Amino acid sequence: MDKAVGVLALQGAYQKHIDMLHALGVPAHTVRQPHELDDCFALIIPGGESTTISLLIQKNGLYKPIKAFAENHPVMGVCAGMIMMATEVDDDRVTPLGLIPFKALRNHYGRQVHSFTTDIELDFDSKGPAFPAIFIRAPGVDKLSDDVQTLARNNNNDEAVIISKGHHLALSFHPELTDDTRIHAYWLSHFSSS
Ligand code: GLN
Repeated sequence: MDKAVGVLALQGAYQKHIDMLHALGVPAHTVRQPHELDDCFALIIPGGESTTISLLIQKNGLYKPIKAFAENHPVMGVCAGMIMMATEVDDDRVTPLGLIPFKALRNHYGRQVHSFTTDIELDFDSKGPAFPAIFIRAPGVDKLSDDVQTLARNNNNDEAVIISKGHHLALSFHPELTDDTRIHAYWLSHFSSS
């Protein structure tokens, strides 16, 4: 069987990622148990509630398996998924996976009522159109290590909103809620060959 992109489906916004991957012609399936990582070549940790996702990762025995998987497979974390990828979080209820060295600030961009869409420029497609970035109780990035690359900033305040280290990518906003597949396509083309 061909390997697929796994989408962690413990809680939150995972189905739209699967739809987007299918739109790109990439096989994708949900991951809820460690053995489901076996036929994956990459993993997406979607948005949702990082405190809940963190608890369920522990409960389902996924913490060590995801960390081991991430040593030689690409992982993309979106919103709550970005928080899970940090080395440090400003909330003790979250035990992050430590895949990218930075501190995640929960709800940095305000609460649900402060959700907004803003155009951002993608460094890897600087001649292309702006990306309509949807921020929903989105995390901020702090204490970013020098060896982490920033691939996009929030144009209003110059804060990092897409970061990358090695084959991992983390972003504050929700690309799967748009029709714009450029970020998923970039992650796959750039990282999945590694
Ligand atoms: N605020 C949520 C958290 O801290 C993340 C929100 C989202 O994933 N859209 O987990």
